[in-house]
Amino acid sequence: MGSILVIDGSQGEGGGQVLRTSLALSMVTGRPFRIEGIRAGRANSGLLRQHLTGVRAAAEICGATVQGAELGSKQLTFEPSDVRAGDYQFSIGTAGSTTLVLQTILPALLTAKGRSTLLLEGGTHNPAAPPFDFLQRVFLPLINRMGPRVAVELERHGFFPAGGGCFRVVVDPVEQLQPVELLTRGEIRRRTCRVLLSNLPRMIAEREWQAVASSLNWSDDCLDVPDLPPGHGPGNVVMLELESDSLTEIFTAFGRKQASSEQVAHEAVTQVRGHLKSGAPVGEHLADQLLLPLALAGRGSFVTTRLTRHATTNIDVIRQFVNVAIETTRETGQVRVVIGN
Ligand code: AMP
Repeated sequence: MGSILVIDGSQGEGGGQVLRTSLALSMVTGRPFRIEGIRAGRANSGLLRQHLTGVRAAAEICGATVQGAELGSKQLTFEPSDVRAGDYQFSIGTAGSTTLVLQTILPALLTAKGRSTLLLEGGTHNPAAPPFDFLQRVFLPLINRMGPRVAVELERHGFFPAGGGCFRVVVDPVEQLQPVELLTRGEIRRRTCRVLLSNLPRMIAEREWQAVASSLNWSDDCLDVPDLPPGHGPGNVVMLELESDSLTEIFTAFGRKQASSEQVAHEAVTQVRGHLKSGAPVGEHLADQLLLPLALAGRGSFVTTRLTRHATTNIDVIRQFVNVAIETTRETGQVRVVIGN
């Protein structure tokens, strides 16, 4: 075990990602850490339920000794022991994001000594977090390209603020993650506009689709409005999916009381336009999420539209735990990220 690392939770972007990346890398490397100023950059700083669930899940999986794991806590000490593959169930108890809890514990399970199964309960489609569809269709296929087999199955949608969603995960690990290269996008093979609508008038989905179709010139066969069982929500999410030669990307906007259907559609459309214009294969959210698995593989590269503060903060935290070169080069309308030598 190395000496204890002291992580400044207020650094850079100053959100939950500093904590999640620290937990994930502490589990994998066995390095204990203390984090101070947790989520200091947020109005409601300290540990929320979603973060606390992440801390407890991480601690259970690697038998960690933890101090400061309480709601609102701004400081935490985490001393990991060995990662144990197994069957786990974690419930956030609010609509907090289950996908973010998974991204905290998944890196350790990818190279654990056996299969794990997880049941996660809480929000599955939350603003400011990867929607379940993004996890399933964008992030995990790339993780699977690195060697492991991770399968997810949605049992119930959980929208903010009602929550009550749940999904299952099966992780078949590998000894060592393999690098991936995502340097070009290639042709776009399929476009999908998936609109989730729960406990709200059908008209909302129709107006959103009309706005998307006319702005992007997409034909009717691109529309997918899955039937959701009644009794959840309210919830409305517009997800624009681009399946290309090299990967699938999803751009999301969330319906809310203060915004018209057209405005919500427009938010998703603007992201798609920016992405298509840059020509980069990797969108900005995927970019910050790929850094950690590639650092653990020791090698890999991708081209993205731009590096967000989430991404640069993640790079800084990764460098504190792992001795790996991460080089970023600005090119016209794109950024190239190379990990390893
Ligand atoms: P934080 O704000 O620190 O809790 O981190 C939020 C995480 O969720 C980051 O990894 C973001 O890239 C990710 N995220 C936020 N919005 C989206 C979205 N619409 N699609 C995919 N990932 C997202």
